[in-house]
Amino acid sequence: MDTGNINGHYHDSHIEIEISKNKEQRTKTKDKRNKMQANQQHIPHSAPSPSEKAGVRRIVILGAGESGTGAAILAQKEGFDVFVSDLSVIADKYKAELNTLNIPFEEQQHTEDLILNASEIIKSPGIPDKAAIIKKINEKGIPVISEIEFAGRYTNAKMICITGSNGKTTTTMLTYHILKNAGLNVGLAGNIGFSFARQVARESFDCYVLEISSFMLDDMFAFRADIAILLNITPDHLDRYNYQMENYVASKFRIIQNQNAQDHFIYCDDDPEILKVLASADIKAQKHPFSIVHEPSNGAFLNNNNLQINLTNTQPFDMTIQDLALQGKHNVYNSMASGIVSKVLEIRNETIRESMCNFKNIEHRLEHVANISGISFINDSKATNVNSTWYALESINTDIVLIMGGVDKGNDYSMLLDLVRSKVKAIVCLGKDNKAIHDAFEDEVEVIVNTFSASEAAEVAYHLAKKGNTVLLSPACSSFDLFKNYEDRGNQFKAAVKEL
Ligand code: ADP
Repeated sequence: MDTGNINGHYHDSHIEIEISKNKEQRTKTKDKRNKMQANQQHIPHSAPSPSEKAGVRRIVILGAGESGTGAAILAQKEGFDVFVSDLSVIADKYKAELNTLNIPFEEQQHTEDLILNASEIIKSPGIPDKAAIIKKINEKGIPVISEIEFAGRYTNAKMICITGSNGKTTTTMLTYHILKNAGLNVGLAGNIGFSFARQVARESFDCYVLEISSFMLDDMFAFRADIAILLNITPDHLDRYNYQMENYVASKFRIIQNQNAQDHFIYCDDDPEILKVLASADIKAQKHPFSIVHEPSNGAFLNNNNLQINLTNTQPFDMTIQDLALQGKHNVYNSMASGIVSKVLEIRNETIRESMCNFKNIEHRLEHVANISGISFINDSKATNVNSTWYALESINTDIVLIMGGVDKGNDYSMLLDLVRSKVKAIVCLGKDNKAIHDAFEDEVEVIVNTFSASEAAEVAYHLAKKGNTVLLSPACSSFDLFKNYEDRGNQFKAAVKEL
């Protein structure tokens, strides 16, 4: 509603009710803000580096994407001598921003003289530790941190941090949606939207919901999450972890480092990798497990088809899973995690229920595209690992024509075998090299076809499917062989389906 309306120039009683509702909402929001501010402890979320403490204040930022540019904006605001260096071409919009702010930068090169004199380096999560420049920085002993670690030093907002191998974006968006509906002054950042550092520089949120990847966690040291969520841990990105699962698991568990007894740790109690670590870990935070197979205390569980949350000292929450906007077993987990965060923040049950019900699913995650001749088309292009494809297959109750393939990150397809045997009648490969998929499934399905474009894949799948079937794009692989990224793959698929 236009703010002019609130001055009361309308005589329509319906509008007046709306206006007074808005007022009530504003008062509630204010109450909530005051309460949250009062609850905030002024413990910084991370601490300055030793060289910064000694007075050297040169920050070099490697990578000028959204997180690097945001970090540069914040570092400049905080009075650092800032330099940005990117080995690739910097996008025009970021170049323009750096120019406007007079922040020096270079692209398509790393000039060592300008980098190795830094007191601290902020590294984009996309740059691996084995990059030549990082090796040189390490040799010189210059601390390397992530943009999240850096920005955490300059805010006292409450941090809700979400990680896991799958479901981060979905859970982050759902949590943000509930908190926003509850009237909290909340920001959304991390691996999503505008960078955390940019928002710390320019906004004044009381709390943030942050999507945190393992690459970000690797460069986080003193940062502390008030509420940490660990959704699941299944093999992914092992190329960045020396092909050692335990390194990847340890990285994910950094989400709880520095937590104290006032903080909260929300995690999946059905995940073997998480349970293995918890068996011997000393967890300081209050623990809130969630499970769909048993009933943990101080957490969330399923009772028949009812999602229930019972936290100590809070009113129990329950909701039937049929009413959840996000369907499928994986989304029950995601909804449980978001629900526990909401209960910890004392959001009303009614607001949680309404928000979980009216949330709009995000693109490229089990996104319904169209129904053509009784065949349902689903775009799950974001399924870039085997585990996410498993959940997609699990959630569909018809025969499936599965479109999969792309860049295989050393996938083990055996976990898909049972579901493929029982539901998949044909596989349409969409990738440059499809050998691993043929090897895994040629004895299991009647038809496996190679295709090399989204339109070819959609067309072939359409011909192979019958009325009542589902055509599912859920690749289990990344997209970089034939597409720019998973969004491009999903968009090309959707456009092709609409042409059928
Ligand atoms: P992330 O941000 O961790 O990559 P997304 O929310 O973008 O996660 O979802 C990525 C893929 O994983 C999608 O195909 C989605 O359907 C699937 N997915 C979502 N939540 C889960 C979960 N809890 N467990 C397994 N797969 C999931």
